[in-house]
Amino acid sequence: MLKINENYLKLQASYLFSDIAKRVASFQEQHPDKDIIKLGIGDVTKPLPGACIKAFHTAVDEMGTESGFHGYGPEQGYEFLRQAIAENDFQARGAKIAADEIFVSDGAKCDTGNIQELFSIDARVAIPDPVYPVYLDTNVMAGRTGTFADGRYQGITYLDSTHANNYVPDLPAEPVDLIYLCFPNNPTGSTISKEQLKIWVDYAKENKALILFDAAYEAFIRDDSLPHSIYEIEGAREVAIEFRSFSKNAGFTGTRCAYTVVPKECTAYDSAGNRQSVHPLWNRRHCTKFNGVSYPVQRAAEAVYSDEGKAQVRELVGSYLKNADLIARVIGELGFDYVGGDNSPYIWIRSDRDSWNFFDMLLNRAGVVCTPGAGFGKCGQGYIRLSAFNSYENVERAMERIRQAL
Ligand code: PLP
Repeated sequence: MLKINENYLKLQASYLFSDIAKRVASFQEQHPDKDIIKLGIGDVTKPLPGACIKAFHTAVDEMGTESGFHGYGPEQGYEFLRQAIAENDFQARGAKIAADEIFVSDGAKCDTGNIQELFSIDARVAIPDPVYPVYLDTNVMAGRTGTFADGRYQGITYLDSTHANNYVPDLPAEPVDLIYLCFPNNPTGSTISKEQLKIWVDYAKENKALILFDAAYEAFIRDDSLPHSIYEIEGAREVAIEFRSFSKNAGFTGTRCAYTVVPKECTAYDSAGNRQSVHPLWNRRHCTKFNGVSYPVQRAAEAVYSDEGKAQVRELVGSYLKNADLIARVIGELGFDYVGGDNSPYIWIRSDRDSWNFFDMLLNRAGVVCTPGAGFGKCGQGYIRLSAFNSYENVERAMERIRQAL
């Protein structure tokens, strides 16, 4: 008799986006003439930058020629892309990362989900609340948690991100081994300073722990004092893995390209307490289970680092930041307490209402769709998330309607 992995039975069905869709559909049915503006999703809305499209086309044409055809490529990514990433995203900011420490993949979702495979089943895991759900669910699937009770899994150390700590979690009270951090944060839009990040790096060093740092929204940082990478912090090479993505900077959500940085010094321990480098383990895992991102997609990603591509990406991200700024301004004028909206495409809004109640009110009174904060964890109750991924015109209309409705 084949038995299933019963850890899967512990998973909470995620009804968040299907519940939103149901409520929106029912509202639309009752008000067929009312137009609805969606500020709920985390997907980008604008097309790929011209430089990426040009490189993409050229590479596709190459694939149709004898001389330019590419079969299986290196699993870790082509040298041209790894080199461009290392130079532009790290070395240019004074972070010592080499091309062979970059692993190109088809998404930060897969990488943040898969990385936990490298660590022991009894690793003590710390996860923020509210959170991008992938970190939590993949640890549940792996069997690192007990059952779900009162909104939380037993066995996980939750790092509360609340108004009280300005949405940057404090160090855990109990010892942990594996720490997930995400800045600029989804869903809260909060950022972390170099000083705050240093506290985490020092903690990881002292406790022989490892930080999994998700920087998928790095391109939204405009405040020069904020770290773009955890490797800008001294000592991080030994204790941190970083995840990046081309999804939110260059609009690759449907094209798929991302990367993970595993420095050679990055360390975990075997059961005898000996240091083990994580780099060869991730290399082994990547090569065994992944066959590389397609050549045209990697050429399109490489174009992000051309002069033309850099200017276009900056403009693209800038347009979403302009939306975020407008959302934050109106929300502030309406007297709400909020975080995000600068250095981030998300605005996390606090109220004294239940999250779903707030959602229904915005939908019914303003025809605007948001995301209820409770869907991201217990600490999200009472909050909603507004996203800047839409056209400026739609954001303007949405905010005017919210102003009228409230
Ligand atoms: N990490 C965070 C925090 C995200 O919000 C998202 C997508 O919304 C991802 C990772 C996924 O990125 P990718 O499209 O590269 O899989």
